[in-house]
Amino acid sequence: MKAGIMVDVQNDFMFADGALYVPNAENIISNIVEVVKKLKENDLPIIATADKHYGLKDYAEVETELQVNGGPFPDHCMNGTPGGMLIGTLSETIGVPRKIDDYHSHSFEDVIEKQSQYYLKVVLSEGVAIFTKQTYDAFRNRYFARICKIFDEFIVFGVATDFCVYAVVDGLMRLGKKVTLITDAIAGVDKAKSADILLQFQKDGVVLIKTEDFLKGE
Ligand SMILES: [Zn+2]
Repeated sequence: MKAGIMVDVQNDFMFADGALYVPNAENIISNIVEVVKKLKENDLPIIATADKHYGLKDYAEVETELQVNGGPFPDHCMNGTPGGMLIGTLSETIGVPRKIDDYHSHSFEDVIEKQSQYYLKVVLSEGVAIFTKQTYDAFRNRYFARICKIFDEFIVFGVATDFCVYAVVDGLMRLGKKVTLITDAIAGVDKAKSADILLQFQKDGVVLIKTEDFLKGE
């Protein structure tokens, strides 16, 4: 079973006036939209991820990346702000997908397991769902982590190559999954670091292709 993973295509990352702009991210928007359309055309589910931050004491333990907690990043994708929303351009193709949060870090694993089965059905029947997270690593959302185990093959795109995209691809490779990364539908914060990451991924067996070639495929 195959799925697309759309990483953090949120206003704060994608636009120059966003709180944590990824350089040139707006230039990949048209490719992202084309990839999403193609996935939908092929009836492939889209597993989206999104940052969702609070900056509150209760979340300090998981939000170590925020400056308020001594981390490197300013507040971004704050809960309920426009910056945290998926870019408007996508609403035409995917509407307003359901958000799947995993705040309850104390939930029992068997509850998470059971609930994951339900969320998998949501992803398959609605075609898309957004898994939210309080760190750059989407696998910290245990529903996301479990649902990824069900699929064999993934098409990954979004931002940022050297943070959230890296964490997703790295996590999938650790699970032994087949991963295709669309190189002109991703953007990185540090250009040199992102280029090195792509080289390493290629060595590890990640398939790197351009949007144009992905669109030509089945
Ligand atoms: Zn974040």
